Amino acid sequence: MVKIDLKGMDRSEMEQWAINYGLDAYRGRQIRQWLFSKMVSSFRNMTNIPKVIREALEQDAVINNLWKIRTLASNDGTKKYLFRLWDGCVIESVLIPERRHFTLCISSQVGCAMACRFCLTGKQGFTRNLTPSEIIDQIIEVKRSLANPADLKNIVFMGMGEPLANYDAVVKAIKNIVGADGLNFSTRKVTVSTCGLVPNLIKLGLSDVTVNLAVSLNATDNKTRSFLMPVNKKYPIEELIAACREFPLPNRRMITFEYILIKDVNDSVGDAYRLCRLLSGMRAKINLIPLNPHLNLDLVPTPMNEILHFQDILASNNFTAMIRKSKGADIMAACGQLSGEYLDSTNETFT
Ligand code: SAH
Repeated sequence: MVKIDLKGMDRSEMEQWAINYGLDAYRGRQIRQWLFSKMVSSFRNMTNIPKVIREALEQDAVINNLWKIRTLASNDGTKKYLFRLWDGCVIESVLIPERRHFTLCISSQVGCAMACRFCLTGKQGFTRNLTPSEIIDQIIEVKRSLANPADLKNIVFMGMGEPLANYDAVVKAIKNIVGADGLNFSTRKVTVSTCGLVPNLIKLGLSDVTVNLAVSLNATDNKTRSFLMPVNKKYPIEELIAACREFPLPNRRMITFEYILIKDVNDSVGDAYRLCRLLSGMRAKINLIPLNPHLNLDLVPTPMNEILHFQDILASNNFTAMIRKSKGADIMAACGQLSGEYLDSTNETFT
């Protein structure tokens, strides 16, 4: 029997489910509170729910959709969580300490079909989409492990997978991540990052969820971008930028463009000027990411002095361009290094 997946439901679905299960609708809301506010890991803890119902639920429904098999801690404070899913697949989430809070980088798929040349997840290929509850449970598991769960304030869909290729599940998960009776994150603190699946990017803009948008641009001409990111053959730069220009942004928000700098590929002075022209007049900020190495990578990072020069050109054209040296490289937790692989099969936790 397939068990009932409660965290995958929104509020009205949960009320309806409660009624179908023979309960009053308010029981659905109560159980929601246990799942999302109190983050209990067992129906036994749901003390305002009658015991018979709790016992029935233990048989019929699931609470935990993934299991932490290991955490790895980096020298810079970054932590990588490896989670096993019910079917044995492994995904990763990365907890990044900021000055006053934490950011969690979550996965939306097992593997990825986009095959970006610079990304290890892309090299590994696509296994399957995550369900909404598998997306949400990455956050809940990490929050449970924090001394102060409220310190986790930012969620970025920048882990394994292409979130807009798993559109329905991602949007559904976001509703429970930002909902006041869900995990209650601020919509300003949730970012979806995409390689540029234009139709779904447009759909997201028209949908009823508000999140921040990040676009992995990584090149300024179609030849280079198609070489780095095969998705560009389907949705070339002009279409992507046009969709970004149309993307409805709430007050004062900006689209973030991510740009990995790769030696002799996309890092020329000409690229810097072309980038300014592409984004001119847009509410945009640029994150320059030094290429992170991994095995089998046939690309070389741009030296830091040239990255600084690239940044200067953007800045002198009035763009906010930050250099984002990604953290966690020593535990293969940095951008583009997530593979879901781990070296042995013990269940030890290293923190
Ligand atoms: N598929 C989504 C979400 C993954 S985000 C997307 O493409 O946006 C992963 C981010 O890491 C992207 O901005 C990507 O450009 C960056 N990245 C991937 N491989 C990298 C590498 N080897 N070094 C640095 N950044 C990398």
